[in-house]
Amino acid sequence: MLRPFRLEEPETVKDVSELLGRFGESAKVYAGGTELLLAMKEGLVHYERLINVKNVKGLNEVASDSGMIRIGALCTHHQLETSSVLQQKLAALVQLEQNVANVRVRQVGTLGGNLCFAEPHADPGILLLALGAKMVAEKSSSKREIPAAEFFVDAYETALEADEVLTEILVPAPAAKSGVAYLKFGYLERPSVGVAVALQANGGGKSVHDIKIAVGCAGPAPTRVPEAEEQIKGTSVDEAKVNILKAGEIAGRAAQAISDLHGSQEYKEHIVGVLLKRAFQNALSQC
Ligand SMILES: Cc1cc2nc3c(=O)[nH]c(=O)nc-3n(C[C@H](O)[C@H](O)[C@H](O)COP(=O)(O)OP(=O)(O)OC[C@H]3O[C@@H](n4cnc5c(N)ncnc54)[C@H](O)[C@@H]3O)c2cc1C
Repeated sequence: MLRPFRLEEPETVKDVSELLGRFGESAKVYAGGTELLLAMKEGLVHYERLINVKNVKGLNEVASDSGMIRIGALCTHHQLETSSVLQQKLAALVQLEQNVANVRVRQVGTLGGNLCFAEPHADPGILLLALGAKMVAEKSSSKREIPAAEFFVDAYETALEADEVLTEILVPAPAAKSGVAYLKFGYLERPSVGVAVALQANGGGKSVHDIKIAVGCAGPAPTRVPEAEEQIKGTSVDEAKVNILKAGEIAGRAAQAISDLHGSQEYKEHIVGVLLKRAFQNALSQC
């Protein structure tokens, strides 16, 4: 049962941050509420104050300028799956968003809420890692950009300070001759394994100039896998098609898979390898 709480309705990021600072651990940001209210209803957490951020203007837009895609933290999954800017610039994110949760959750759940809750079985953070995204965190007196690689600290833990608000996600638009793919696998409500690949090809698609690989859902937090990337970067496409198997083994171990209801550690490590091979082929076919 949901215990009573007080709802604050600030209209600026500064006011949100001040409320967070003033009320400390007894207050929490409330965006779509799909995670927060569920956890409160189940009695897992309780906050005396919820700070509704939906009245803060300008945080629910998607724009693209000078090679950078800017996504407001309050954009819902539905907004992102139907965004014409993303359809043009970052189709892989559109595809990912179309497959997040269910239509009810996508309608109200926000990208910011997904990232800040840092639930391990979440999709967007994995792709954002491979794309080299940055999270914009603001509080009353300051603003900083946190690279995605530093944002996810552990299960349910991010690098955000207690009075910081995630306002925007900055994603470098993929360059020409590049491909981006995200694949996931699972048979429960949330994904069991997710793998993202962002690569750039050279010489008319004959070699791999650069590649970024990220894995998640299998372990506590999404992570980039530079050791797997080294197997592929700078190789010819033919070599890469062989080396991707070794890269898959490395990525499987890096996923820090945990045996649970989703499957055993070994099973998840194997699935990472399978998804990486397919995501690599998918990304390559776009170059
Ligand atoms: C049934 C179900 C299935 C799901 N399946 C998937 C899935 O397949 N893949 C997937 O990726 N996700 C899945 N999800 C998670 C879903 O994406 C999230 O529930 C949603 O995006 C959270 O957004 P929200 O706005 O509702 O967050 P809220 O519940 O409002 O907030 C979540 C947390 O983030 C904090 N927060 C929110 N916004 C900010 C901000 N701007 N700055 C600072 N802190 C903030 C809140 O204080 C709270 O701690 C599923 C959820 C459900 C309920």
